[in-house]
Amino acid sequence: MFSSVVQHYNWQAAAAVVLLTAAIITIGKYLVFKVPAIKRMRDINIEEDNKRLAQEKYPAMIKKGKTAGFAILFPFYFLVLPFCATFEHVSIARVLLEIFVILMVYDFFYYLTHRFLLHAPHDSRLGYFRRVHAVHHQARDPSWVDATYVHPLEIAIGVLLFLGTIIAHALVAGPAHVASLVVCFLAFHMINQVNHTYFKLPYFPFRTINWIVAKHHVHHENMQKGNYATITLFYDRVFGTLD
Ligand SMILES: [Zn+2]
Ligand SMILES: [Zn+2]
Repeated sequence: MFSSVVQHYNWQAAAAVVLLTAAIITIGKYLVFKVPAIKRMRDINIEEDNKRLAQEKYPAMIKKGKTAGFAILFPFYFLVLPFCATFEHVSIARVLLEIFVILMVYDFFYYLTHRFLLHAPHDSRLGYFRRVHAVHHQARDPSWVDATYVHPLEIAIGVLLFLGTIIAHALVAGPAHVASLVVCFLAFHMINQVNHTYFKLPYFPFRTINWIVAKHHVHHENMQKGNYATITLFYDRVFGTLD
């Protein structure tokens, strides 16, 4: 399987993943902000974000984090993703399975990393990582911009876990379909952002998003509370850390 992955270098498929993801995010944001209730939430987030961005530390940390993220993502797009993406095999069942496996495996390792590395006790050998993560926890009641108010080392860890899962998937099961990877990149990028927004719409059809966002906000209240996973609340539920 390893040699078949190495022989496979499909830059068109990699470019399709990147361009389609960017296009869907751009068009999706345009459409979603046409919904009056969501537009109202966006205006509140912009107001809250501006208060934070007026503090010198915010733009500085966000810039460092973005630099770290792109420094990993760009080489990945050119050097690694072409080995991991394909247009072949178009069965919907296979695409759904790939999406499920990649996101659930990533979320499992993210859960472990967040719970045991980023929340390691102060006085343990891993205490440094808790101090790194404490940057992100400075926001007790996050708004949108806090999704990116993260120490660059923590950004690097999250991005590497996600990309590592895609590489592992390619090595074990072969390159994933472009459609699967687009959905995975969208989930990786968007769920974390939505989780941090000010979002108070506790009625249909927003009830579920409202609940998921509320869970992540509980985690920000103090570093003892749960919601360690990022894509779903499944592992928090299974391991009993859903506060
Ligand atoms: Zn957070
Ligand atoms: Zn945390």
